[in-house]
Amino acid sequence: MSESGANGDGEIRPTRFRNLPSVNSLSQEELIVTEPENTELLSSIRRRVQSSSEKIETGSLNVLSAKYESLDYDTCENYLFLDEERKKGYRFIVKKNLARWFIFLLIGMVTALIACAIDISIEELSQLKYASLSKSVDEYVTQGKLHIPYFFWVLYNVIPVLIGSILVAYVEPIASGSGIPQVKCYLNGVKIPRVVRIKTLFVKSVGVVCSVVGGLAGGKEGPMIHSGAVVAAGLSQGKSTTFNRDFKIFKYFREDHEKRDFVSGGAAAGVSAAFGAPVGGVLFSLEEGTSFWNQSLTWRTFFASVISTFTLNVVLSTYHGVPGDLSYPGLLNLGKFENFSYEVYELPIFVLMGALGGLLGALWNHFNYKLSVFRMRYIRKRWLKVIEACIVAAVSATLGFLMMFLLNDCKPLGQDPTKYPTQLYCQDGQYNVLASIWFQTPEASVRSLFHDPPNTHNATSLAFFVVVYFFLSSWTFGLASSNGLFIPTLLTGAAWGRLISVGLFRIIPDAVLIHPGKYAMIGAAAQLGGVVRMTISLTVIIMETTGNISFALPLILTLIAAKWTGDFFNEGIYDTLIQLSGVPLLPWEPPPLVHNIYASEVMSHPVVTLKCVENVGHIVELLKLTSYNGFPVVDPPLTDQSEVTTYGRIRGLILRSQLIVILKKKIFNENSDFWGDINVGIFRDEYPRYPTIEQVCVSEVEKTYSIDLRPFMNPSPYTVLHSSSLPRMFRLFRALGLRHLPIVNDTNEVIGMVTRKDLARYRVWRHRGRMGVEELLISKEI
Ligand code: ATP
Repeated sequence: MSESGANGDGEIRPTRFRNLPSVNSLSQEELIVTEPENTELLSSIRRRVQSSSEKIETGSLNVLSAKYESLDYDTCENYLFLDEERKKGYRFIVKKNLARWFIFLLIGMVTALIACAIDISIEELSQLKYASLSKSVDEYVTQGKLHIPYFFWVLYNVIPVLIGSILVAYVEPIASGSGIPQVKCYLNGVKIPRVVRIKTLFVKSVGVVCSVVGGLAGGKEGPMIHSGAVVAAGLSQGKSTTFNRDFKIFKYFREDHEKRDFVSGGAAAGVSAAFGAPVGGVLFSLEEGTSFWNQSLTWRTFFASVISTFTLNVVLSTYHGVPGDLSYPGLLNLGKFENFSYEVYELPIFVLMGALGGLLGALWNHFNYKLSVFRMRYIRKRWLKVIEACIVAAVSATLGFLMMFLLNDCKPLGQDPTKYPTQLYCQDGQYNVLASIWFQTPEASVRSLFHDPPNTHNATSLAFFVVVYFFLSSWTFGLASSNGLFIPTLLTGAAWGRLISVGLFRIIPDAVLIHPGKYAMIGAAAQLGGVVRMTISLTVIIMETTGNISFALPLILTLIAAKWTGDFFNEGIYDTLIQLSGVPLLPWEPPPLVHNIYASEVMSHPVVTLKCVENVGHIVELLKLTSYNGFPVVDPPLTDQSEVTTYGRIRGLILRSQLIVILKKKIFNENSDFWGDINVGIFRDEYPRYPTIEQVCVSEVEKTYSIDLRPFMNPSPYTVLHSSSLPRMFRLFRALGLRHLPIVNDTNEVIGMVTRKDLARYRVWRHRGRMGVEELLISKEI
């Protein structure tokens, strides 16, 4: 038999590795990225690891960062866990279940209350700002001193943006942007440092108020999703790592997979609060995030979403002086459409609009990607980030001012529901339409474009507005400020949608069905779909936000056309940002055409393993020398050590975090008299921030002691045979939320290790209608 590859029956045989260095003789570099010496084995596809001479280009989309760790969604059913389960009994199960529902209730309520606080602050501050601006424009225009209101406008923009961006740049950079890509990665199983901390929530909430009041082309809806996720992670753990407080409640939820379930509920509650769309919220969590889904989680997530929109509705209705009326289900209130119908001949128009949205969305993403790369290269210092945000705030005011000054678009008063009709150069009894769009929050502008009666906006103003807002929103997304892209994208799309209706009206003047609001809505959906490429949740969110169920088909057609057209050119913006930061995200499906890649080609070898009873000094050294987070526990190998091919029969898998807690608590065999009560609680107390090995003190004498790993290790980890295909391993990882997958031979002996990064390395690429599979580089540089 040959040393590797398929035998005559097409069956893959265990691979033999010749003269591999022993684990202890390897340097840390070699241990982190190891390659089998047997080159025959890797003849078909070679692992691309960064060599010291290879420089990673900033902004490369083909590199995975080695710095991201995974979450472990597989329950470690070790002896301690089973012991706890046995003792619990029925009452405990009921109590835990009730606690779970209670937490989902709290998540819904608290997320909504935060949304209300953000909304009311924005509303109050914006009113002050725009009322004063509108007044001063009309006051100074007659005196020919328009530079004074312009100066005020710049000031009112720059001051809040300065505060917000200082907070983001100096206090918590992870709070920048919408936070949706980060939540998506978390739910996918990647640990993004500090993403669900209370400090992040604080900066995000204050930051979003500052950026919206500061007139940046961004919205508060995306950040609400991130806020919901933080609320969920915080409430469900009964402790705060930011404040170093343990409330000693909900301890049994201190595990990655329990926390993940709550976070999906939190993200859904956030969507629900943002758009008043509880079903859309559930679907958003399902479509964009979660790697795992089941019936009871759907039910609880829906519950949190409904509670969230209800709480928000009660509070905002009271705030707007109509308590009990319950007419404010979400932050984004697009207003209900009456008598909204469509003709069959309009469907192709909607599809074309979808395709245009996809095209514009791809362009928007490309522009934003180029800007992000520019920022990564040149805007690295925090003060530079703050200055950039302030410049964008000033430019936003300048462009708005120039537009209303240069395009004197006047309409008779009374037609528009705007709060601050500004006359500017219009005649008496008229108001400047562009001033009314700029002198209100972007949400209110979307509403205007959806509901303003026909002929409110002229084509030139709309066209200018589209161009200006398109580039402004793309420039704004990614600044050191907390804001999302939903609203500016909807606004851009609504404007060009309305523009199309103006064009159609010119072509077929007597068509009664060409309602500009309807086209604004389709344009908005197409633009947003083209940028984010969500289909299921976006359709439902827009349907719920506009209260128009009969419009499902046009929306679906539009969004599918937008997605397909956009995908032809590039990835959606969230995926682009995720790829840019090198996160090893596992998509829904394995890449196509990789069935001929086997575990033996994907796995790492040699494997760092431990024995069931292991020397303390050896464990400490191993943890210091390597950065791995999981170690197969094996029986001593049966084979001759001089020709190491396997690492002994697998007995279990132990995590670095578990080893650290054992070392910290000094659970050594020689100390067994002082152990006291050892239960799973000792691990939960340290969750989620375990100390590093450097923080654990182990004396020289203790290093001669030994640890019995059997009660702590996972005694039945998922393993696969060396002959398993890449798609099979991929599906296991994706469906079960795995972190480590030891590869075994026919006699159940460990021969390799596969982790998320090994699988995420194989990625499908699509470009201009072509596709293929590429192998990414793993780098420690990004
Ligand atoms: P994660 O970072 O996903 O939490 P991890 O730190 O254990 O898990 P990775 O950083 O994904 O592992 O691993 C980097 C590389 O090291 C991968 O190619 C993986 O196969 C390999 N690897 C992981 N654990 C071991 C191990 N115990 N022995 C040998 N190689 C390993």
